[in-house]
Amino acid sequence: MAKYDNSFTDELRQRLSLVDVISRRVPLVKKGQNYWGCCPFHNEKTPSFSVNEEKGFYHCFGCGEHGDIISFTMKSQNINFVDAIKELADMAGIKMPEYKQKSKEQIEAEENYIQITEKATQIYQDLLYQDSGKIALEYIKKRGFTDEMIKKYRIGYAPKNNIISARFNNIKIDKLTSTGLVRIGDYGPYDFFRDKLMFPIYNAHNQIVAFSGRSLDGSEPKYINTTDTELFHKKQTIFGFNFARDAIHKNNRSIIVEGQIDAIQMQCHGFPETVAPLGTALTEDHIAILCKSNRNIIFCFDGDNAGQKAAIRACTLVLPFLRENSDVKFAFVTGGKDPDEILKNHGVAAMKKIIDNAVPLIDFLWESVNKNYLVNTPGGRTSAEKYLKDCVSKITDKIFQNEINEEYNSRKFNQWHKWKKQEYKPEVKLPDIDEMTVNVIKQIVQTYPEITEKYLDFLTSLNISFDDEVNKTDLSLENAEKFVISLKLQRYINKLEQERQELLKKSLDNGEKYNQEILEDINKKIEESNTKLELLLDMNDK
Ligand SMILES: [Zn+2]
Repeated sequence: MAKYDNSFTDELRQRLSLVDVISRRVPLVKKGQNYWGCCPFHNEKTPSFSVNEEKGFYHCFGCGEHGDIISFTMKSQNINFVDAIKELADMAGIKMPEYKQKSKEQIEAEENYIQITEKATQIYQDLLYQDSGKIALEYIKKRGFTDEMIKKYRIGYAPKNNIISARFNNIKIDKLTSTGLVRIGDYGPYDFFRDKLMFPIYNAHNQIVAFSGRSLDGSEPKYINTTDTELFHKKQTIFGFNFARDAIHKNNRSIIVEGQIDAIQMQCHGFPETVAPLGTALTEDHIAILCKSNRNIIFCFDGDNAGQKAAIRACTLVLPFLRENSDVKFAFVTGGKDPDEILKNHGVAAMKKIIDNAVPLIDFLWESVNKNYLVNTPGGRTSAEKYLKDCVSKITDKIFQNEINEEYNSRKFNQWHKWKKQEYKPEVKLPDIDEMTVNVIKQIVQTYPEITEKYLDFLTSLNISFDDEVNKTDLSLENAEKFVISLKLQRYINKLEQERQELLKKSLDNGEKYNQEILEDINKKIEESNTKLELLLDMNDK
């Protein structure tokens, strides 16, 4: 069979889940590691058709049909290879490239490329343990790397001089430049990585295709990566994936951290399923790669503002990948630290606690909406609702989408409308009025019908029985009215104070932060009423 350019079909396989594609035609049920259904290629009533998402193939134990995502699409629809690719590309939302046979030159170029990067890795590895690599070695050891770890990850040192261009001077220059290791400047070829601590970057076949170099003299940027080449696409490469793949399968989850050193330290200290994007920005390709193994991802970010923002971004990227059995969570490392520091200073148990306490995506999204919108106001709730709706609509699994919608609807009803209640109808019980005051009020009611009429609502709200005979009051009409007004004000202040207490108590009980706006409003009203009361009593004295 002719050798084809596999990068596009690889991309399809990477982006699409075999289970998703087959589920469109055959209902599948997960049993153990595999999914099972009734074979679409022969007639059967008990399922003997198995799908292995991890390995990317299906197999029928009944009729022996066997293949991958592409052959399934061809056979199940009786279409040819190119049409199957087109359909899958549509499904994945990517453009079909011109499909062409890989030339002999291309194959040779790729082989050369891998030979050069492999040899360069060895050179860098050797240099790390020589005099020129002393500072680099000291640095990496200080970061807690053992010789064993350095060897496993093939960490090396690119010296200040142009070692690659010099050592490979017998190789055609365009072969060197194609790897990104060497560039051509005004004075001839020069090395792209100089005076850097070197971390090799592997492809899915465990070949080194690129490097990430860390500066050692404090210069920015801290990390530079090989710029994209024929064999390396930064946006589609996850650092540490080649080492983590088995663990991601075995532990049935992946952890994404922000930095490469974090990823290595995590892998070496109890979290072998950890990976990191190259550079800071996470892409949907990264998530697609991880989701091929399983859809259980823990994002581990800094607890600071940048980390929160990165988490929200990750959240929107991961939404289209969610299925009913996905478990996506967010963990935050607080105090300006990263996983590397937590492991070094507080140990594996502390890190485990952070990972174990990760917040499920549904709760994270809900919390961030409540944090970022004024949900105690109708306008804020409207914006928040629009945002949530937009997020949920990104979930492609319709049944799961409905499920999430219902969950949020119930939260909106129970939590947002509870605020509304607190805001407009506070439930407070006022203490009874003392006997002396009750008596004076009775006398006023008896003496001044005009006051009774004017303050009827307030007076009846006091729950006093006005039936019994009482003496007339000695107070003048003016002072009698002031007495009623001051009592009314006093009761109003009591009511506000109760509301304030309720608000604070409720936030203590629920562990939620009280609504600052409501509290400030109450305080303002109390202050105003107290001023009025003082004025009234002051005038009374004169
Ligand atoms: Zn079959």
